[in-house]
Amino acid sequence: PFDVLVVGGGPAGSSAAIYAARKGIRTGVVAERFGGQVQDTMAIENFISIKATTGPKLVASLEEHVKEYGVEVITEQRAANIIGAEETADGYIHVELESGAVLKSRSVITSTGARWREMNVLGEQEYRNKGVAYCPHCDGPLFKGKRTAVIGGGNSGIEAALDLAGIVEHVTVLEFADTLRADKVLIDKAQATANIDIITMAQTTEVLGDGNRVTALEYKDRNSGEVKQIELAGIFVQIGLVPNSEWLKESKVALSGRGEIEIDGHGATSLSGVFAAGDVTTVPYKQIIIAMGEGAKASLGAFDYLIRTPAP
Ligand code: FAD
Repeated sequence: PFDVLVVGGGPAGSSAAIYAARKGIRTGVVAERFGGQVQDTMAIENFISIKATTGPKLVASLEEHVKEYGVEVITEQRAANIIGAEETADGYIHVELESGAVLKSRSVITSTGARWREMNVLGEQEYRNKGVAYCPHCDGPLFKGKRTAVIGGGNSGIEAALDLAGIVEHVTVLEFADTLRADKVLIDKAQATANIDIITMAQTTEVLGDGNRVTALEYKDRNSGEVKQIELAGIFVQIGLVPNSEWLKESKVALSGRGEIEIDGHGATSLSGVFAAGDVTTVPYKQIIIAMGEGAKASLGAFDYLIRTPAP
């Protein structure tokens, strides 16, 4: 059995594993895909102390750093459930995998991340990272002086529009419903911003491009049925971030109404010995540097737990 088993191999999980292994305790990582969302990222310019890098490069250095400490890394395995130490016959926490295997550990750090909800329209996949973006904090500056759109008129959509308005030439917000769902203060501010236009009752139908980059967005006006095009260089999809916590639904780990794992200031969850970090948790602002800090914190929390808890 492990002392610390990390479920998820993104920035949060990598950081948690390194912090645990440096304590000289038996550490494992089980992940569907090492690197997580960072694998899907092209330009990273806000990972402090490295001016610019790419996702695959950062993942390679994460993996090298984790392996430096002899962490046992198991990939291509999905966790399906977690059983607390109080409910198992051997007194270890059990992580059940979809393959049917069971991994045992004295403590567990869950860092299974999240995924952006996609529009599911033609062109979205083809132009992902070529104009279709999901994170304004990450990719906003890449569209400096250009025309952009934000899909979604909730809080994250209007926040993104306000953020982008200071960098890009123009932002069009497209909302499917007849009203925006964001807080009134944000809507008022967006309406008063000269380079933001808001279109409601707009159903995005296609992302258009020249083969290399996005050139336009097509949408259907749901009032008139008319199909329209907007010429632009960037499309920020802001229709929700979904936590990868489905595998915990049957467990005793408490989730928020949005499915995020609830954690305290030490990264502890409601289930004893189980900690959590990164995008899958209630921690606000989902970023690589934040996920890494949270992973370190949860790992130190787990170590504190281990030195206070007798081994089974
Ligand atoms: P993730 O990176 O999501 O990793 C989750 C891990 O858990 C993966 O290993 C996954 O395979 C695994 N997993 C999931 N479910 C299971 C399961 N059931 N069983 C086992 N393993 C599982 N942030 C920045 O700071 N700067 C940027 O420039 C930036 N650009 C981005 C661009 C894109 C396109 C995207 C999608 C995100 C970007 N982000 C950026 C956000 C950043 O990638 C995330 O905040 C960060 O990766 C979160 O780390 P994490 O470890 O919590 O989760």
